[in-house]
Amino acid sequence: MAAVPRKEKVEELEARRHSTVQSWLATHQGDQAARLRQTRELFGKPVVIIDPHTHSEYSDGRATIAMNRDAGITAGIDIVFATDHASLNQKRAIRNIPTMSWGQEPGAGSHHIGLLCNTRLFVPRKENIADDVAKARTLAPFVWIPHPAGWYPSTVYSEEKKETLWTLAPAFAMEVINGAHRIGTAFDQFDAAAVALWDRLLDDGIRVTPLGGSDAHVPEGIGVCWTALPGVEANAEAVVQSLNTGCCLASEAPLLAIHMDGQPMGATVPANGRKRRIMQYRVVDAAGLQCVRIIADGRVRKTVYLRDETILEGEWACPASIKRYVRLEARAVDNRRAFSAPIYLES
Ligand SMILES: [Zn+2]
Ligand SMILES: [Zn+2]
Repeated sequence: MAAVPRKEKVEELEARRHSTVQSWLATHQGDQAARLRQTRELFGKPVVIIDPHTHSEYSDGRATIAMNRDAGITAGIDIVFATDHASLNQKRAIRNIPTMSWGQEPGAGSHHIGLLCNTRLFVPRKENIADDVAKARTLAPFVWIPHPAGWYPSTVYSEEKKETLWTLAPAFAMEVINGAHRIGTAFDQFDAAAVALWDRLLDDGIRVTPLGGSDAHVPEGIGVCWTALPGVEANAEAVVQSLNTGCCLASEAPLLAIHMDGQPMGATVPANGRKRRIMQYRVVDAAGLQCVRIIADGRVRKTVYLRDETILEGEWACPASIKRYVRLEARAVDNRRAFSAPIYLES
C-alpha cells in the first residue's frame, strides 16, 4: 500500500511548487519590464504606462494591495488601478501609494462597466447599459467598457450583447486588449473579436478610445498588457484627463504614435480642402517588430513587414476617400500587439 504523504509534507511540496512558479513569473515580469524600459528609451518621448484594470482581495482578486503594488513596480507599470468589482474600500489602503490608484468594475447587465477614481460606490441598475454608463459618469471622471466581446477562456458575448454598445454613441472607451486569466501574453481570440467590434463602431462614426487592461486577479497577471499615455504627468488626475481626450494606445509591448496635420491620437482633423492628408507614424519595440498596419474606415490600407527592426518611422498619404478614421497597429517579433487610438476625420 502506497504511503499517504503526511499533511505537513503535502503543504511543504505545495509551498515549494508555489514558490518556483512565483519566481519564474517574477523573472518573466522582470524581463518584460526590462524590455519595456528599453522600448521607452528608444521611443524617446515620455509616456505614462497604466494598468486601468486589476483586482485585489477587496473583491475576487488573490492579492493584497501591497502585492499588486509590488507586481506593478516589477512589471514597470507607472500606475496600477485597483478596480475591484463591488468595493471602494481598497481606496483607504491605496491612499499613500504613489504608484497606485483605484476604481471599480461592477457587472452591469449586458456588460461590465469600468470606473477610474470614482468618489462613491457605483451600484448599476442593470436595466440598460446607456443609463448605467451615464450614471457612472456622474460618479467617476473616467468610465470605460471592459472586455467588450467577452473574456478568456469561455465567456463569449452574444451579438445582441455586443450591439448594446451602439447605444453609447457618440463616444466612449473600451478595452481592445484584456488580459483576463492570462499570464505572460494577453492577446487572444476575445481581443481579436474586440478589435473587430471596435472597427465596426468606428466605421459607424462612433468615437471609441482603446484601452489595454490586465484584468489581473493574481499579481503575476499585472504587466501582461497596459495603456500608455504620451506626454502626461504620472499621476491619476492627469492620466484620467488625458484618457478623456482619447490620446493613448493599448499595448502588450510596442510603443507607437501617429500624427496627422500636427494632431495627435484621439484628435479630430478638420476638413481643410486639401486632397490628401499626411499621417506620420513611429513604432518602437526593443525586442523587434514584425508587422505594422494602417487601418482606415474598417479596412487595412497599408502593411509594412519588418525584419526584427526595433524602430519604424514613416508617412502615409491618406486618400480623400477616407471619411471617418485612421488608426495604426503593430505586432512585435513575439506577436505582442499595440493599437493606437484613432485620429478622427471631419468630413
Ligand atoms: Zn473578477
Ligand atoms: Zn475585471
